[in-house]
Amino acid sequence: MQFAPELLERLRRARHIAAFTGAGVSAESGIPTFRDAQTGLWANYRAEDLATPEAFRRDPSTVWNWYAWRRDLMRAVKPNPGHLAIAALERLVPRVTVITQNVDGLHLQAGSSDVIELHGNIWHNLCANCGRPAAEAELDAGTPPACPHC
Ligand SMILES: [Zn+2]
Repeated sequence: MQFAPELLERLRRARHIAAFTGAGVSAESGIPTFRDAQTGLWANYRAEDLATPEAFRRDPSTVWNWYAWRRDLMRAVKPNPGHLAIAALERLVPRVTVITQNVDGLHLQAGSSDVIELHGNIWHNLCANCGRPAAEAELDAGTPPACPHC
């Protein structure tokens, strides 16, 4: 990873840095932005109307299948040079925190170790009732799995 000399010098003096990221960093990996993703079967829905706990309570099957579709879009993507550059900062700075709006998990895949995912992670689902994690094997399309605890 090559950093500009002035940036490299500043990074070497830093003790803790934070990187804020959003859809732009993952677009290069082929992940459409939240709103641009609405195509095909989902073109008639507004993403904002599907991505809320209220939407899930109103229509769990539709929201579950929308997330399954989004997971399918993300399944084959890999971290790009942007994710890798941010992860490489950990070799220069004692502490690097990544704060992201993205749910794709690509910062973690790239090797960043301190990642705050503001909107969660599309691969980690929680029971809407008790908050316990759902098993990853249960993430297929169809109807949402029953929680083994509720
Ligand atoms: Zn539960």
